[in-house]
Amino acid sequence: MQALAADGYRVVGPVERDGVIAYADLGSGDDLPTSVTVEQSPGRWRLHHDDSGHRFGWTPGADSWKQFVYPAHQEVLRIRRTDGSFVVTSPPPAAQPLAFIGARDCEVRAMAVLDRVVLDPLHPDPRYAQRRDGVFVVAVTCGVPAATCWCTSMGGGPQPAAGFDVRLTEVHDAVGHRLVAEAGSDRGAELLLRLEMGAATTDDLAAANGVARAAADGMPRRLDGAALPALLQGTDHHPNWEAVAERCLSCGNCTMVCPTCFCSTFSDHTGLTDDGSAPIETVREQDWASCFQLDHSTLGGHAVRATTKARYRQWLTHKLQTWTAQFGTTGCVGCGRCTTWCPAGIDIVHEAAVLAGLPTAAQPPNSQKGSSA
Ligand code: SF4
Ligand code: SF4
Repeated sequence: MQALAADGYRVVGPVERDGVIAYADLGSGDDLPTSVTVEQSPGRWRLHHDDSGHRFGWTPGADSWKQFVYPAHQEVLRIRRTDGSFVVTSPPPAAQPLAFIGARDCEVRAMAVLDRVVLDPLHPDPRYAQRRDGVFVVAVTCGVPAATCWCTSMGGGPQPAAGFDVRLTEVHDAVGHRLVAEAGSDRGAELLLRLEMGAATTDDLAAANGVARAAADGMPRRLDGAALPALLQGTDHHPNWEAVAERCLSCGNCTMVCPTCFCSTFSDHTGLTDDGSAPIETVREQDWASCFQLDHSTLGGHAVRATTKARYRQWLTHKLQTWTAQFGTTGCVGCGRCTTWCPAGIDIVHEAAVLAGLPTAAQPPNSQKGSSA
């Protein structure tokens, strides 16, 4: 961590804060959560402590790395009137490149999904491009999936396979408790050489792979994710959309925590002062938006998706079906956040399975509308 900071990176990673795992600036390895485990289920996230000494025994919370490269709120430009003309300024670019510590496979793949959308060559977002450029990723193999995880159904996990500079796997076996580090890029290899950590043995690597294998075998829910785009075709009038809408609050939590959701809205704010005490300014801002907002689908003065049923259907089918046709990738990486942080406990795996006619080991959905997360 200090080596990355010395190289000029802004180092961010997991911290235990206010009873959850949040992602924030790190000063040293001591800031990482220690002996923390996490319990997740539809509509429920709880943090617990044990005496393991493990640094990565938890599964992610509501935060994702998206918030650092595609912030929930940002200024886009500022227009100031001066002496019969006006001056347009943009916020300065970030002073430091980012280093992400502890990204899980679903999160690494979510960054690639977001890149595909937000860096589309036809209309790349320059602010995202600037923040994303040169991000150093220290990924971590998941050793204990949460009850809401389903990354292996969506083409990944639990061991990051690409998109990282260094991959860590926390191993705790008869040999001892250690982090096995592997390079995924030249600069990752250079960093590991500089740290003089000592070469991993064949047994270390085998143990790391064993951690990943055990986590994959223990993945609590499975669904044929690759088949979903075809299976969800023709389900527009499936009765399950009504059943979900009975419970869905249209709160948009699922979209706010999703690491691949990219909808945003722009607004202009103009100062009212024109008495010469200050120059008149207009500030353009960008904020995350949600397809669960009624006005998000307004066209010609009317909301195209006027009902909760229509909005939930839009969200689920975009994630699991039409995103593939639109962007050539799935829109969902199976992180489970939308299920965990849904106050009604609506479970995307269960709903998708019902709609697609697939068997699932998913837990039954929480039927109590408005149960607390
Ligand atoms: S749709 Fe749900 S499970 Fe899929 S990436 Fe988004 S939050 Fe994760
Ligand atoms: S599915 Fe859950 S989180 Fe998403 S809008 Fe409905 S109630 Fe909110």
